[in-house]
Amino acid sequence: MDLIFEKSCMGTGCTILPKCDVDIYEVKDKFKRNLELKLPELSENDLSRHYTELAKKTHGVNDGFYPLGSCTMKYNPKINEEIAKLPEFTNIHPLQPEDTMEGCIEVMNLTKKYLCEITGMDDMTLQPAAGAHGEFTGLLLIKAYHESRGDFKRKKIIVPDSAHGTNPASAVMAGFTVVSIKSGEDGLVDLDKLREAVGDDTAGLMLTNPNTVGLFDKNILEITKIVHEAGALAYYDGANLNAIMGIARPGDMGFDVIHTNLHKTFSTPHGGGGPGSGPVGCKKILSKFLPNPSIDESGKFKYNSESIGQVKSFYGNFLVVVRALTYIATLGKEGIPKASKNAVLNANYMMAKLSDIYTMAYDNTCMHEFVMSLEFLKKETGISAMDIAKGLLDKGIHPPTMYFPLIVHEALMIEPTETESKKTLDKAIEVLRDLYNKAKTKPEALHNAPILTAIRRPDEVKAARNPVLRYK
Ligand SMILES: *Cc1c(COP(=O)(O)O)cnc(C)c1O
Repeated sequence: MDLIFEKSCMGTGCTILPKCDVDIYEVKDKFKRNLELKLPELSENDLSRHYTELAKKTHGVNDGFYPLGSCTMKYNPKINEEIAKLPEFTNIHPLQPEDTMEGCIEVMNLTKKYLCEITGMDDMTLQPAAGAHGEFTGLLLIKAYHESRGDFKRKKIIVPDSAHGTNPASAVMAGFTVVSIKSGEDGLVDLDKLREAVGDDTAGLMLTNPNTVGLFDKNILEITKIVHEAGALAYYDGANLNAIMGIARPGDMGFDVIHTNLHKTFSTPHGGGGPGSGPVGCKKILSKFLPNPSIDESGKFKYNSESIGQVKSFYGNFLVVVRALTYIATLGKEGIPKASKNAVLNANYMMAKLSDIYTMAYDNTCMHEFVMSLEFLKKETGISAMDIAKGLLDKGIHPPTMYFPLIVHEALMIEPTETESKKTLDKAIEVLRDLYNKAKTKPEALHNAPILTAIRRPDEVKAARNPVLRYK
């Protein structure tokens, strides 16, 4: 397809700017550009066709099933967009005086309260812009806690080998050394290994529960106890709360800090690179270190003197917070746990309907997602997880997460989410079963998939290492 610059036809432009409603300032010459700005010019009709063509080449939740494990690509109710679009939310300026934006502060205050209730935490900041950013913020809280007690030797963060890649990366960014511990055969934290790993140099443990293989760690209370007895703190990676919201609370499991991704669990569209939001909740002992400003009990801004500082300008990505509040308020106290239960039911339904042919990485009831290993299928037929994923594309299904977590070979990680109907799940199950049979009978066909997509099999290494992002 042609780029918009190639479609451009001078003189056809259709720009009609609205009347200027602010004072006009003349820009100083030294700030003016020397070269003419070459913007494409298209008629409204051609412009509309251009973006429609682009939209048809991609796959989103509005196109079809999107079971991308760990990412919670669920349907985002359109009402969230309607509310986030209200001029009362979009036409404000972060430097407005506090008493002229009380409604917006109340939105942040309520969201904070609900999220504290859901996660079992005492306080929260809405500033971080993403999950990894939340991890970084939470780890700085842990660091500030130890240092405020004059305990400077705690430099290590323990991370199980099943963790999301952002966990060790954030720990290093926050100035810690990472101690990786191997998971047990059952995919859970190995308690003996954890006991061996903790010591008076441990700052904290970072854990995802349910973990990245979709299992709820039955020893969770023992795990946080071991960490606390060593004088360390427990960090909960709650990027994805889809299995437990309204049912179990990380705060009650003994965790001291948590981040959650509003752009996963709390229904903001994601996948295209932002904006996101990764609020960080904490127990009382960490409250005074939260970024400024935070919000006090009465719903007013408060400034902590021992704050770790600001981690993002102003209040974070406010409109993502508006969507989250709309989502939580729409579902309510009954709807929130129901969503989780349906997410878990859908994942277990798919797993059960596939487990007679596909090998499941762990033979256990799963939470909101499950992991299959195609190691045996590959040995037998030469068909890899990648081939099956590519085969799904021809059937209008977005591939599951592939080759993650790293501890499972030829992994496909499927997260159906609660927003899919039984009919959609049955169709996907049928497609996966067909692909399995194809692997056994006609493997060549699968090596060539996909054949119906705009791009077939790109060289992924080259695309990542030498991206061509600029039009010449
Ligand atoms: C998505 C995810 C993250 C990272 O979130 P970003 O917003 O992409 O930075 C961290 N941990 C887990 C378990 C995740 O699923």
